[in-house]
Amino acid sequence: MNQKSAQYHDAILVINCGSSSVKFSLMEPSTGNTILSGLAECLLTDEARITIKEVGSKNVISLTSPFDHKNALSVLVEQLQEKKLVSLIKAIGHRVVHGGEKYAQPTLITSDVKEEIKQLAKLAPLHNPANLIGIEACESAFSHLPQVAVFDTAFHQTMPEKSFIYGLPYALYKQHGIRRYGFHGTSHYFVAKKAAVMLNKPLTECNLISAHLGNGCSVTAIKNGESVDTSLGMTPLEGVMMGTRSGDVDAGIIFHLVEHLGYTIEQVDKLLNKESGLLGVSALSNDCRALEEAMLTNTDETIKKQATLALTVFCYRIAKSIASYSASLTSLDGLIFTGGIGENSDWIRTEIIKQLSLLNFSLCEDKNQATRFGQCGNIASENARACLVIATNEEWVIAEQSTLLLAKAVS
Ligand code: ADP
Repeated sequence: MNQKSAQYHDAILVINCGSSSVKFSLMEPSTGNTILSGLAECLLTDEARITIKEVGSKNVISLTSPFDHKNALSVLVEQLQEKKLVSLIKAIGHRVVHGGEKYAQPTLITSDVKEEIKQLAKLAPLHNPANLIGIEACESAFSHLPQVAVFDTAFHQTMPEKSFIYGLPYALYKQHGIRRYGFHGTSHYFVAKKAAVMLNKPLTECNLISAHLGNGCSVTAIKNGESVDTSLGMTPLEGVMMGTRSGDVDAGIIFHLVEHLGYTIEQVDKLLNKESGLLGVSALSNDCRALEEAMLTNTDETIKKQATLALTVFCYRIAKSIASYSASLTSLDGLIFTGGIGENSDWIRTEIIKQLSLLNFSLCEDKNQATRFGQCGNIASENARACLVIATNEEWVIAEQSTLLLAKAVS
């Protein structure tokens, strides 16, 4: 064990496998301290690379293509061995996107569980197969360690039927599982728990609306600590507008695109998931920072106007979604902003809150501007309803839940 890691007793390796990336984090579950973390990105392309960070150092390793998830995990294993960190690892916790109705809790991965995750790929074709690749690669690299799945849908399994049923024939739900599931559950759960501490109330008595605004965005209504409604649906396309995803659109547009504009179904899928949202409306970028900069400083009036429009629609749709969730709650302790945009953009927070004065939301601009880049706090003005900025930490939830599950299995 190296000097820096000698202070740690045990750790969970948290793995989040996406379609072309693997995020990883070696974390002490009791404190949330990260011992080592990193990202393998652009897998299966010529730009494949892996960045590994330890406290005080950052190492970028370029990878020779073709480089896939398995190869990336082998590099991680080599690095862990070289740094003498393998003996710290007690289990591997995997973020699994879709757990359907079956998985409302973290679950020890067995061959049956892997089969279910495979079956659920019907509902999450971009995510569950990548998650399975990560699980199988870790099984071969760390055959001696238990593997735990923590599902992104799990927190929302407390939603009542009135929240998750679509206005479609009921048989589609019963026979094919077509219903709303919700995502970002691990993040909404983490920030709700943290909000309870900040509000000095037990989580089971907290009524909150949580806005996770990153590349993907979702709003969740939390009643007595449990999710009762959320804006993402059967897939991560429903709800508010996002970086490249449209969010809610009239489903009739899809018929129009196919029948009158010659789109194929694959092209519609790409349009709604990858070419819409902030990117589509601005015709400039899906990155909120680039759009704010263009809105404030770009000298080309057309670019400036489109960037402003994209951000305005984005904020209005989020404000409407937050207001709509007041119908799911009987009281409201506060609103939470989290995710890359929610945690960092004081401009977006101001724009959203301006439209929610009927719910007694109002910001203290000094606090709003000071609460960024990992700072947490209540940015509401005096006498207004609480508005909390909380840095999310999904990896910590996965590490904590994996440890709890293993402790239960032993006792
Ligand atoms: P993901 O959903 O991929 O985890 P993140 O939660 O990291 O994404 O959020 C990414 C988004 O956060 C991007 O749109 C980025 O522009 C935005 N973001 C990050 N920092 C800032 C900032 N300082 N101001 C505005 N937006 C920011």
